[in-house]
Amino acid sequence: MRDVVLLGPPGSGKGTQARLLLESSNHFVHLSTGDVLRGEIKLGTPLGREAEAIMSRGEYLDEKLITAIVKDWVLQHEGKAVLFDGFPRTASQVDSFVGMEKALGRACHVIEMTVSSDELRNRLMRRCVCAQCGFIDQKCSLKDDKTNEWVCPTCGAGEVVVRSDDSAGVIGDRLALYDRHIESIRERLKAHNISCRAVDGSRSVLAVREDIVAALQEGSR
Ligand code: AMP
Repeated sequence: MRDVVLLGPPGSGKGTQARLLLESSNHFVHLSTGDVLRGEIKLGTPLGREAEAIMSRGEYLDEKLITAIVKDWVLQHEGKAVLFDGFPRTASQVDSFVGMEKALGRACHVIEMTVSSDELRNRLMRRCVCAQCGFIDQKCSLKDDKTNEWVCPTCGAGEVVVRSDDSAGVIGDRLALYDRHIESIRERLKAHNISCRAVDGSRSVLAVREDIVAALQEGSR
């Protein structure tokens, strides 16, 4: 089974779609580089301390550092196909990624999720994450109408977290940074003979899921 790279700007639904793919197949494991880094911040490790300031500004971490984290993680999860969410994020990360895949005898599908910037801003301004299980949704949709309390529909926990980089000031910078890199990412993938299938991420979660599954099946033919 091949790895899957989910490309897409912040708020395009990579994490949500990765979760759905995980639910439908136990061949996959989900690597969100952002989640790994947030985990390090929570633990207060030296890596977490280094990452926190960079992430709060919406900038990218050092190339070598992130590539080493990804490689370690993949090696620890050998035997499973990886859903890459948040990596690669630059053309040179594509080169490192392809080098790693070749060295480990792995192959991948690449899906690019596209959503308009207005819709992305809207989603990111309203996004919240379950502190317990990481379920992602819009703030208003997770409130219990009767108690006015937040309840996660997946695990039932009652704590909602708004990511510190989902703030008005940082959202614009993160989207701009993505836009700056995406064309060169597409070019590098093409240079490596890896096709990238586009999926319209502005549709409903389930419609996007269907498109992704269809794109993966088409890519396997
Ligand atoms: P995400 O959760 O994917 O939106 O990532 C949150 C933040 O983690 C990004 O804004 C970056 O600061 C950092 N990050 C995650 N993945 C990478 C990567 N592949 N390269 C550099 N920085 C990353």
